[in-house]
Amino acid sequence: MPGPIDLHTHSSVSDGTQTPAQLIAAAVDAGLGTVAITDHDSTAGWSQSFTAASDTGLTVIPGMELSTNYGPASVHMLAYLFDPDDARIRAETARIRDGRLHRAERIVERIGVDYDLTWDDVLAQSVDGGTLGRPHIADALVAKGLVTDRSAAFESILHWKSGYYEKYYAPSPLEGTRMIVAAGGVPVLAHPATHGRYRVIDERVIAELVDAGLFGLEIHHRDNTEDGKVRLYELAAKYDLVVTGSSDYHGEGKPNVLGENTTEPEALERIVAAGTGSRPFVG
Ligand code: AMP
Ligand code: FE
Ligand code: FE
Ligand code: ZN
Repeated sequence: MPGPIDLHTHSSVSDGTQTPAQLIAAAVDAGLGTVAITDHDSTAGWSQSFTAASDTGLTVIPGMELSTNYGPASVHMLAYLFDPDDARIRAETARIRDGRLHRAERIVERIGVDYDLTWDDVLAQSVDGGTLGRPHIADALVAKGLVTDRSAAFESILHWKSGYYEKYYAPSPLEGTRMIVAAGGVPVLAHPATHGRYRVIDERVIAELVDAGLFGLEIHHRDNTEDGKVRLYELAAKYDLVVTGSSDYHGEGKPNVLGENTTEPEALERIVAAGTGSRPFVG
């Protein structure tokens, strides 16, 4: 479908504020030609998004944003067109979601010592079986009038330096890459230059990931710094990686708007040609 291509969005299956159907309607309203649904560590929104896209002219790329840990750093990896029934992916994402759930409970327990916040307040902000994260705790803090919005929550109570924070289990980027490729999917590093040129994941690691099947770099993303993007372009050229761009839309949960960054049709063609675990849904 001609029209802008946005390859990174979230629904209420993870930390977006719209249901998959609402997300698709918003993508149609925004005039997108293609949208990827990439909830954190879950494919639970795929079928609802396909149904909603029927007869709209919108193409939906089934995807996910896989959490990985590289030492102390949380590294996000976009995965497109993999087999959602792949046993390894299913088991690993279930383990990540479960780790996230218990980690969120412990964060809330610590916050609850200092603020009027309970676990039930957080559950009220999330979908049953969804991927729980700090954004849901943020929404509960907002609902309680303790902060004004998600961003304010992340800058204060939910900041990793706040004393309430803890990490959650996730595989390494190398394990993640291998897992996605083994499931017929296409791995793309999400917003790899959030912290600038010198914090871009080490070239040695990139080379290792490329050997394992890393396919692309998400360069056009609002969180990548300008000097970081320059470095990413050098790496993309050197390792023949596809360059993608996207909004990382979260509904009302973030200021990011659909289509604010986009992917070139040629890049999408390469991704679609490489993915063998599932197919784009042409609505
Ligand atoms: P977690 O995965 O639970 O550690 O939470 C991180 C998630 O929170 C990321 O996936 C972001 O989408 C979201 N996030 C991070 N910073 C902000 C912010 N300032 N406002 C809203 N959402 C944010
Ligand atoms: Fe998110
Ligand atoms: Fe991310
Ligand atoms: Zn994201």
